[in-house]
Amino acid sequence: MRPSLLHHTRFFITASSLTQLDSVGLPDGNWQAGTLPEIAFVGRSNAGKSTAINLLCNQKRLAFSSKTPGRTQHLNFFTVSDRERRYGYLVDLPGYGYAAADKATRATWDQLLGQYLRQRRALRGVVLLMDARRPLTDLDLQLLDWLEPTGCPVHVLLTKADKLNRSDIAQALRQVSDALAGSPHSVQLFSALKRMGVEQADDKLLEWLGVNTKKNPGETVTGV
Ligand code: GDP
Repeated sequence: MRPSLLHHTRFFITASSLTQLDSVGLPDGNWQAGTLPEIAFVGRSNAGKSTAINLLCNQKRLAFSSKTPGRTQHLNFFTVSDRERRYGYLVDLPGYGYAAADKATRATWDQLLGQYLRQRRALRGVVLLMDARRPLTDLDLQLLDWLEPTGCPVHVLLTKADKLNRSDIAQALRQVSDALAGSPHSVQLFSALKRMGVEQADDKLLEWLGVNTKKNPGETVTGV
């Protein structure tokens, strides 16, 4: 596996509302003016979000802390840093579309999600996970709608690509590429099982974190 700055990612805090973030030094500032960038991970529950975060960060249980009771409806922040400095945060957002959740619970999650995605000025990019067998559900489209006015770029991971044959893979990729045409968004295949697409996703996250991986040819990643 290629070494990456992301392998140094550590759990930081859990928050159940945006107002809590101020108190731990995460003001809703403009990231370009000094606030560190945040990259959100979001998707239908069971899309493979925790597995993808763990694989990208080369850790077994990092994102599973988000699944422990009491944390599933929260925003979980992870710090990306090395010995020299902190580069930004990965933010694990609550999975949406829990069939078991009652209406009121779902409404609260939607509100927290929608608020974070629409209002968070430190948000630099969103990784949207979709099961490659069922991409672009109504809830995925709703999420893209939420983000539309903000102009925030989305990178779609079509997960569990190992479960599809070649022609279905090509079709899923084409379907999502067509849907995203003309937007600042991008899409790629991903399989945690086959370790497919890890470096491509890593490149995108480092780009959003402002880490220049191409500056010194021969070096894999700056900052490691
Ligand atoms: P989350 O709810 O979005 O965080 O989803 P999880 O990461 O917990 O994954 C849901 C299920 O899908 C688990 O049983 C994972 O083992 C499985 N899964 C995740 N990624 C892959 C993958 O790339 N390939 C396959 N075949 N299964 C996967």
